[in-house]
Amino acid sequence: MLATLSLSRRAEGSMTDSKAREAVCRFARSLFERGLPPGSSGNISLRLDDGGLLVTPTNASLGFLDPARLTRLDAGGRLVSGDPPTKEMPLHAALYETRRKAGAVVHLHSTHAVAVTLLPEINPQAVLPPLTAYSVMRCGRVALLPYYRPGDPAVADAIRGLAGRHAAVLLANHGPVVAGDTLEAAVFAMEELEETAKLFLLLRGLNPRMLTPAEVDDLVRVFGRVDADDDDGH
Ligand SMILES: [Zn+2]
Repeated sequence: MLATLSLSRRAEGSMTDSKAREAVCRFARSLFERGLPPGSSGNISLRLDDGGLLVTPTNASLGFLDPARLTRLDAGGRLVSGDPPTKEMPLHAALYETRRKAGAVVHLHSTHAVAVTLLPEINPQAVLPPLTAYSVMRCGRVALLPYYRPGDPAVADAIRGLAGRHAAVLLANHGPVVAGDTLEAAVFAMEELEETAKLFLLLRGLNPRMLTPAEVDDLVRVFGRVDADDDDGH
């Protein structure tokens, strides 16, 4: 797993511009075809070799992206080419700022993950209990932040307040945002997060058997801790 992750990060890091654009559009369409981003909601960013970003444009449906119109930002966040970026750019920027290994960020308004943010009993440091091995491996501990108007720069301060301790964050009454080492890792973690939220809702009130702390420790020992953002975390 360690070798696979670092190999895929290197492969993505050396992607040509056109391959990076194709990858963003392909994963975006995959999420759209699963019904996860309603309307023109949801946005994706991919960090490039020069420290700049490739970002999905504002008001663009993830199902119908044009590779040539993706937003290209330089390392300082200035527009280089393409359409204006998603208005939720502050969210993405704050995750890259606090998680230096992040290679991609995905944000959606997916139904089950949003539903969980509305429940009264949620622990904001660990929203979802350890229901499955893959939710622990791909998402780690999921944090909950309070409601902010979409695009409100204050959400960036809230993300900074988490100090990079979470790879997956839920915004109350809004949706999930996930950072990954690679675009594939971020997308797969987002899908795992949505399915785990669905399981959590299905099992609510049924007293399900969670993974035990020893079983979670065993996963972390073998596969690393995805929510860590240091060299020992993977
Ligand atoms: Zn949003």
